Amino acid sequence: MSTISDEDLLAYADELLNLVTASTVEAELRKDSSLRERLQILLEGRDSGSISLGEVWRHGRITCPSRSEMGLYLMNALEAERLDYVTFHLETIGCAYCQATLAELKTAAESLELDAQDSQRRERLFASSAGFLQNRDSNS
Ligand SMILES: [Zn+2]
Repeated sequence: MSTISDEDLLAYADELLNLVTASTVEAELRKDSSLRERLQILLEGRDSGSISLGEVWRHGRITCPSRSEMGLYLMNALEAERLDYVTFHLETIGCAYCQATLAELKTAAESLELDAQDSQRRERLFASSAGFLQNRDSNS
């Protein structure tokens, strides 16, 4: 008997699982034909309009935190209540969609930071060589 829940199966079908869970489900599906049947039945049930866990998952996606909220999350600038929600959404639900958004924002933020460090370094370099020239001038 597989330990994979109906929720996981449907979330897998909708590509809502995080990578680790998704690959576990995929491996189970590959070797367990009864699990494949279960997924088939679940998908048919959902397509026929019965309210299913997939609907809950899809609804969950609609309540994904916004991109700007994710930005605030990244900067530790969210108020406690929203922070709880976003953390739950990312870590407990493991929303693949939001994790991808977060990774993208993180990369963008890091390259901005590098640019800032670069220009600071250039300014320092300029300031010290200017100082050097001044000292040399006053010594002569
Ligand atoms: Zn999400």
